Amino acid sequence: MKAAALTEIAPVEQRPVRLLEMPDPQPAEDELLLEVSVCGVCHTELDEIEGRLPVSRLPRILGHQVVGRVIAKGPRVGSFQIGDRVGVTWLWKSCRTCSFCTRGLENLCEKALWTGLDADGGYAERMTVPAAFAHLLPPSLDDLHTAPLLCAGVIGYRALRLCQIEDGQIVGLFGFGASAHLTIQVLRALYPRCRVFAFSRDREHQQQALRLGADWAGHTEDNPPQKMDKVIDFTPIGQAIPLILRNLQKGGKLVINAIRKIDPIPPMDYAELLWSERTIQSTANVTYADGSEFLRIAAQIGLKAEVTAFPLEQVNEALLAVKHSRITGAAALVLNP
Ligand SMILES: [Zn+2]
Ligand SMILES: [Zn+2]
Repeated sequence: MKAAALTEIAPVEQRPVRLLEMPDPQPAEDELLLEVSVCGVCHTELDEIEGRLPVSRLPRILGHQVVGRVIAKGPRVGSFQIGDRVGVTWLWKSCRTCSFCTRGLENLCEKALWTGLDADGGYAERMTVPAAFAHLLPPSLDDLHTAPLLCAGVIGYRALRLCQIEDGQIVGLFGFGASAHLTIQVLRALYPRCRVFAFSRDREHQQQALRLGADWAGHTEDNPPQKMDKVIDFTPIGQAIPLILRNLQKGGKLVINAIRKIDPIPPMDYAELLWSERTIQSTANVTYADGSEFLRIAAQIGLKAEVTAFPLEQVNEALLAVKHSRITGAAALVLNP
């Protein structure tokens, strides 16, 4: 099969993701074999390619927002039929027995394997996934527009849940890329009385936020019109934390939706920025329930991703466009249209 695989750790500009002819994967007894239709391109792939998030072997087929159809399955799979349309998220598999998994926190499982990091992902014509971690997709969402929901959408939904928003609160979205453009639509639908403030350095992204229902949009250095009760930080920037905290209401909560910050968080004055019962929480990965709940809500509210499609052959162009924030919305690779 045709696959775009990471062959060496290097800056994206050196094009270390190469088109290769690779053997078809074989499903294990509890796995599905998928013919991949569309695979979203995520910022996390940049971390894998450039070595900030080490893959378990090379070459590694990246991609963890996968829409595909079941073309074969192992003998122990009862839950899916040949031809079913399924989605694969970042969570490829977890142990299902540890103290985290048994509480529905597979996102914290020490033995979890992540799609495109520890197992080959969807930058290929075919891939395998354990049936227990695949999602049957609602028919109302088409392949191209579903792919970005499977990471950008699901992780944003997890961050939104961790915010514990009450309708009518003031909510900030700091950094307005693939994840925020989906999160704002869910936020608007679930909490119609909230006021939403969006922050981006990019004018086009500010415009997009206003178009999708933000009440105010400004630069990341700007002060919003009011202090905020809840803020999700989507940026990989450590400097963002004090910028956000200075505009966080007493008792407010900041949820950080990032695997890592590329620069250190600057020293901060506790009394000025954190005291008065402000809290900070990180998000890590996603659970299976995050995926299924979010896909149900996405279908209900008619969530619409803005997607720029690339053929597999242009995988490096897609990655560079994501790296340099040239995409408004999300990028995705189309494999078997
Ligand atoms: Zn991702
Ligand atoms: Zn576990």
